[in-house]
Amino acid sequence: MVEKYSMVKKIREDALNNKVPIIMDDGINFITNYIIKKQVKNILEIGTAVGYSAIMMCLCSPNVKVTTIERDEKRYLEALNNIKKLNLEDRITLIYNDAANVKLEDNYDLIFIDAAKAQNMKFFKMFEKNLNDGGAIITDNLNFHGLVFKDEEDIKNRNVRALVRKIKEYKEFLKKNKNFYTEFYDLGDGISVSIKG
Ligand code: SAH
Ligand code: MG
Repeated sequence: MVEKYSMVKKIREDALNNKVPIIMDDGINFITNYIIKKQVKNILEIGTAVGYSAIMMCLCSPNVKVTTIERDEKRYLEALNNIKKLNLEDRITLIYNDAANVKLEDNYDLIFIDAAKAQNMKFFKMFEKNLNDGGAIITDNLNFHGLVFKDEEDIKNRNVRALVRKIKEYKEFLKKNKNFYTEFYDLGDGISVSIKG
């Protein structure tokens, strides 16, 4: 176990050095606590990157299984490699595809949306049918490095401004959604937990 965590530490450091946008420490701590408290078993993750969050979610409880989707080939291959190093091949299923093209039949206790930030709502609507009753959809990066709290006219880059607007729309969508109860947490880069039912 000690060796496993030193391997994960290396994966985390390499990711940070290579500017791979992995989840912040407060964010992953929050999620692993949630997994333990709610005895989450099956997880769907949209946005694997190099497998850091999937591995962390697996290591917090022996009952956890993760299915995770990544569209970038280089990252997918690196994730595959990292998962093998930790001997988690039987607990983490990697899908190399754009999540928009993935149709799943299985149901999950937790869906973690952490892919392209403009597509949060699309993925929420696509995969909510795969969520068990009482399950949760957790979304990362709702603060978008604090830009979500800035005046829009102060954001000079047009693409960034459009992305910020999308994230705000998503937050409104969550607040108004009658089928889910959502709480927003100002930790890590901003996290929401939307509970079904
Ligand atoms: N969850 C990871 C970080 C994911 S970063 C962690 O915390 O360790 C976001 C990843 O989502 C990127 O690697 C990006 O390539 C991927 N991504 C973005 N849009 C996607 C899509 N539509 N389908 C699949 N993967 C996507
Ligand atoms: Mg993230």
